[in-house]
Amino acid sequence: MSQQYVLVLNCGSSSLKFAIIDPQSGHEKLSGLAECLGLENASLKYTLNDIKQTLPLIPNAEHTQAITILVQLINEHQLSSQLIGVGHRVVHGGEQFTRSVIITDEVISAIAQMSTLAPLHNPANLIGIQTATKAFNSLPQIAVFDTAFHQTMPSQAYLYALPYSLYKNHAVRRYGFHGTSHYFVSQQAAKILQKPISNLNFISAHLGNGCSITAIKSGKSVDTSMGLTPLEGLMMGTRSGDVDPGLFTFLASLGYTNIQIDELLNKKSGLLGLSELSNDCRIIEEAYEKQDPQAILALDVFCYRLAKYIASYTVPLGQLDAIIFTGGIGENSSLIREKVINLLTIFGLSIDHDKNLLARFGQSGIITNNKKGPQAIVIPTNEEWVIALDTATLVLENK
Ligand code: ADP
Repeated sequence: MSQQYVLVLNCGSSSLKFAIIDPQSGHEKLSGLAECLGLENASLKYTLNDIKQTLPLIPNAEHTQAITILVQLINEHQLSSQLIGVGHRVVHGGEQFTRSVIITDEVISAIAQMSTLAPLHNPANLIGIQTATKAFNSLPQIAVFDTAFHQTMPSQAYLYALPYSLYKNHAVRRYGFHGTSHYFVSQQAAKILQKPISNLNFISAHLGNGCSITAIKSGKSVDTSMGLTPLEGLMMGTRSGDVDPGLFTFLASLGYTNIQIDELLNKKSGLLGLSELSNDCRIIEEAYEKQDPQAILALDVFCYRLAKYIASYTVPLGQLDAIIFTGGIGENSSLIREKVINLLTIFGLSIDHDKNLLARFGQSGIITNNKKGPQAIVIPTNEEWVIALDTATLVLENK
């Protein structure tokens, strides 16, 4: 019998990540990335059966062209007959979607409505859904939402202290993002600790270009740092995270327009803004090792804010079993992990230098050596695998 694979599509604002995954093992038969979509230098790179290739895209190619090339690739290599469904990452599912769903016309119009809350992402996700539906019209299409995992948060965690009518009439509340990643690493952490997840409480820190932290009690999200939009919370690559809301009026009084304020907070702040070097953590770390004062400042603020968030998330959890580090920074930066753990000695955490250095470049592991109290664990995330698993589950349930 031919193996049953899932095509996973993740349409970002100017990128398309894709993979063909065995949902049982997580093995990726094909994986790739189309970047700089809409720009002169749009390109598509992929790995098929462990061989890397690059395909030219026409200048200014958009998502639709990239998916069309991907479909040709899939057909050329006779992979489509092995597919059982297509899983789409959808960024914003609002309050309507608490789990993954089979895509219907109603689901499509709900995702379109939610575009006001995620104007860069939901429209791109919809293009992915529409193009893939045309190309693979016999296959079920499944939507997996970044927000769904956080729908278990209680109202005290998701409501802002604003007039309640803003929530009732305009759905202004905390939604949270990176849900599939926080879900995945919490499940993996339970396996590493060899205990049922129902008996465990975690704080997971997803530290990539975007950064967010989630308090997970017995497998359920009870608080998370990103809010109505992915701008709130931790300091990120180019995003500020939390600032005084009074800043907006102050910047406006300086003559900044709404668009300029948005750009300043989303694209010019965070690690890039403070270091004045880069949003790439590797470059900042190199400068930090050479005692560059602004690189030191940027990493100090990043780690201090993260440690404060971790400490505050013990409030909804009561007992804490482990802090999980994931995402490009969390999985690789032993420096940041060590700085953060050294700020959290009040919880009894003590870094194990050797284990911390070993847990990098795809290697998971416990990186603390305290006998009692919570541990810190590094776990590489795999959002694509969660999307493939959810897709396969829904396809089987609806056969
Ligand atoms: P995205 O949110 O776009 O998926 P990633 O999870 O890939 O991003 O994370 C990107 C971040 O991870 C960048 O800041 C990058 O510098 C950082 N990173 C990747 N490798 C390392 C490393 N070896 N050391 C420190 N930071 C790293």
